Amino acid sequence: PADAARDAMSRLVVDVPDYPQPGVVFKDITPLLSDHAGFAAVIGALGDAGRDGSGAVVVDKVVGMEARGFILAAPVALALGIGFVPVRKAGKLPRPTHAVSYSLEYGDATLEVHQDAIAPGERVLLIDDVLATGGTVAATRELVEACGGTCVGVAVLMELSFLPGRTAVGDLPVSAITTV
Ligand code: AMP
Repeated sequence: PADAARDAMSRLVVDVPDYPQPGVVFKDITPLLSDHAGFAAVIGALGDAGRDGSGAVVVDKVVGMEARGFILAAPVALALGIGFVPVRKAGKLPRPTHAVSYSLEYGDATLEVHQDAIAPGERVLLIDDVLATGGTVAATRELVEACGGTCVGVAVLMELSFLPGRTAVGDLPVSAITTV
């Protein structure tokens, strides 16, 4: 399954140079999403981060970060038989939230989660498409902990190893299908 996922990604993730700004190589996953076998392979591989060696599910919730994280985390949650929780940009969730602000290359961003989305003591798997600076994952981990939950890992399609993502997420285990 891991091999099938890696193979699908090498065929179906498209590098777009200088998008959205000069010097950035944007990883476009939309061709992967529109290929059923490829999409299924990466969802299976991401879900393995929520299982132990015998295949038992060892997490209680899957959290996806807006917006591409939603597309990946929701089917992983269904496959694992557990709930999905969206972490959204500021101002989108209608009920009381926890909020965390963090710095981006240009300016700041705020992420929010509903306060009752994760129960105290729940074990949480974070899912996103790309681990770059790690700022998004670090902020999301703070949100999970504000709810009383525990992050047990982050699973991504791609890790950009030339950026300090792994350092920024501290001791949180990272599962990446591919590292570039
Ligand atoms: P970061 O907080 O720096 O780790 O950035 C992670 C977020 O930015 C993820 O949600 C990604 O979707 C997006 N991102 C960062 N770099 C790229 C890239 N080169 N291609 C596509 N998405 C990216």
